[in-house]
Amino acid sequence: MPRWILLAAMATVGALAATAGDAAASAPTAASAAEPQGKKGEPVCPYCKNDEKVLEGAALKGHGKMPFGKNNSDEIKRFLSYTNPLFIESKHFRIGSLLESYTIPESDWKAYAAEFAELRKVLPAVPAKPKVLDPWLRLHLYALRCEKRYERFLKIIQRKEEDFPDKRIFGAPYMGEGRYLGMQDKYEVFLHKDLRTFTDLLREHSGSTTKKTKREHYVERGALGVHIPMTDEVRADLDLYAHLTHNLGHLFHVGYKHYTYEPPKWLEEGFAHVFEKEVNPEYNSFDSEEAATADMYEGDDWYGAVVKVIDRGRAAPLADLVHRSSFSSFGKEDHLIIWSKVEFLMSKPDLMAKLFDSLAGRLNKEGFGDGSNLQGVQRDFFKKEAGWTFEEFDREWEKYVRKTYITKKP
Ligand SMILES: [Zn+2]
Ligand SMILES: [Zn+2]
Repeated sequence: MPRWILLAAMATVGALAATAGDAAASAPTAASAAEPQGKKGEPVCPYCKNDEKVLEGAALKGHGKMPFGKNNSDEIKRFLSYTNPLFIESKHFRIGSLLESYTIPESDWKAYAAEFAELRKVLPAVPAKPKVLDPWLRLHLYALRCEKRYERFLKIIQRKEEDFPDKRIFGAPYMGEGRYLGMQDKYEVFLHKDLRTFTDLLREHSGSTTKKTKREHYVERGALGVHIPMTDEVRADLDLYAHLTHNLGHLFHVGYKHYTYEPPKWLEEGFAHVFEKEVNPEYNSFDSEEAATADMYEGDDWYGAVVKVIDRGRAAPLADLVHRSSFSSFGKEDHLIIWSKVEFLMSKPDLMAKLFDSLAGRLNKEGFGDGSNLQGVQRDFFKKEAGWTFEEFDREWEKYVRKTYITKKP
């Protein structure tokens, strides 16, 4: 069975910081359950025990108060007082979670082995082969997964941590406004246990009333984030991981050298598909602008389907794709084609890294972000770096597809 989920596009939040009073006044009311308290009034995590040495060894900042969304984790806990969100801060992420315990299906035990081994290196309290992910273990697992995907993105763009200075350095090549790929603040992930907390918190933080995964841009803090509601489509933990990865693909891509304009949509969505399939080839997420419905391809075999779309003469040429300015403009065949075109570029890692580089962080003469004429930028890029016109790109891509997709299994 193919699996998929609809997504809504990015919301921009001009961080109008609410006071504690505002949040408390509009907070849904219910008594919060008693929980064990640590030294600083924080619940104690059974894996790191909130121990500073353990946390440091695991490159984690811990579970305490942290900036989040339009205010901070303590305000969110107060606002969602009818439930108990857990938080963790890692090197590049802040994660809030209301996920419940998850029993790992036996067929998936193997898939988790490497992750548990890695967690145990820094958190010896993690069992070797847990069969159930309790909420704390899930939180630590997602922190590990997010950091892994960040590391992977750095590799794809062929950059190092040190390439992103804390602040813009005038006179040096523009790398954005901060150390998080060019963003000033860490990436945020909130995993909700149901639609109730999701809609309550989103309405409070960005005014959004969507029931679908939502990415957000907190402009004043320079933070990008995503809220994911637990629905049947992401009930299986490895599906949730894939869906999160799709969203991280979007956030990293737009965050690279600072999010001041929209990158080409075909590349952004195509890359998110590729990034997602790296962690779970069977799961697919599709973006759509809020009012529209994504046209989702529901088949399993994306390789075979791409060949069929080409054979039917329905593969959108790159010269057309570079003009699409919304996710809703992609039909189901287009999703296959943009995935495949980015997958083709990923087979040429240097070219892929240079393409991201040349499209991100563009400045005008006054030194401000400039996303104008990106079609022309792409045309010039392929000509200069690969000697291809858009038509020649398409021919090279088709050759690659016909040569390599024949043997690939879905
Ligand atoms: Zn912990
Ligand atoms: Zn997407």
